[in-house]
Amino acid sequence: MREALVVGNWKMNGTQESVRSLVLEIIKQEQEQEQKQLQSKPCNAVVCPPFVFLSQVDELRKDSNLQMGAQNLDWHEMGAFTGEISAEMLDSIVGHSERRSVYRESDNEVASKFAACIKAGIKPILCLGETLEERLAEQTEQIVARQLVAVLEAVGIGGFGDAVIAYEPVWAIGTGETATPAQAEALHGFIRSRLAESDLNISENIQILYGGSVNEKNAAELFAMQNIDGALVGGASLNAKAFMSICGFAQIALSS
Ligand code: PEP
Repeated sequence: MREALVVGNWKMNGTQESVRSLVLEIIKQEQEQEQKQLQSKPCNAVVCPPFVFLSQVDELRKDSNLQMGAQNLDWHEMGAFTGEISAEMLDSIVGHSERRSVYRESDNEVASKFAACIKAGIKPILCLGETLEERLAEQTEQIVARQLVAVLEAVGIGGFGDAVIAYEPVWAIGTGETATPAQAEALHGFIRSRLAESDLNISENIQILYGGSVNEKNAAELFAMQNIDGALVGGASLNAKAFMSICGFAQIALSS
């Protein structure tokens, strides 16, 4: 059975002070959830702070169940790459649509980043998703398949053995507009079936998260879908109560 996973992408937000209170509040909420026995076991909650706050968050989360990831990485191991960060001992988001569109990252660059994670022994969270124009042109599956195949060709199906996928329709990110549970489920099922063509076991076990304006109000109905294993959360992850409520919904849905 797949475990629930909720990942918070803080993007370029926070100060030392606000990060401290956010992490401490998340940990407090997490402990309260456990005490209320809302869940048989703690939710897999991951936060991805900006790079400069990673050590601070790492220190604060000690002795808690909170996990941590990075928002990005460079695929080179080391060298003259000003402003870049190599794969370190952190799970990392790769191929986020904001990086694909704002920083013009190509499918091949995303695949290189994914491969760098595998090589460094860290778990990549691969984001896939279509723009509104692509959806309206009925190209959604074609785009998502193209993005997926670029990574499959680079690392082979084995590379997905310890990875996470996030389906994130670009038109739903930060817009307040969410895919309907049926729309999201259709794409999650599609991604799983594409992976199944290469390896049934990996396709059944890989966690596929939904991302795109997930909040406390819409999370439960998304998590009720068979192929949705949790969420990649942007805006709502900056609010400890909202973030931990989403984790709670994911845990309840996936353990029932
Ligand atoms: C994201 O950053 O991946 C995201 C889904 O953001 P939001 O939840 O704000 O739409």
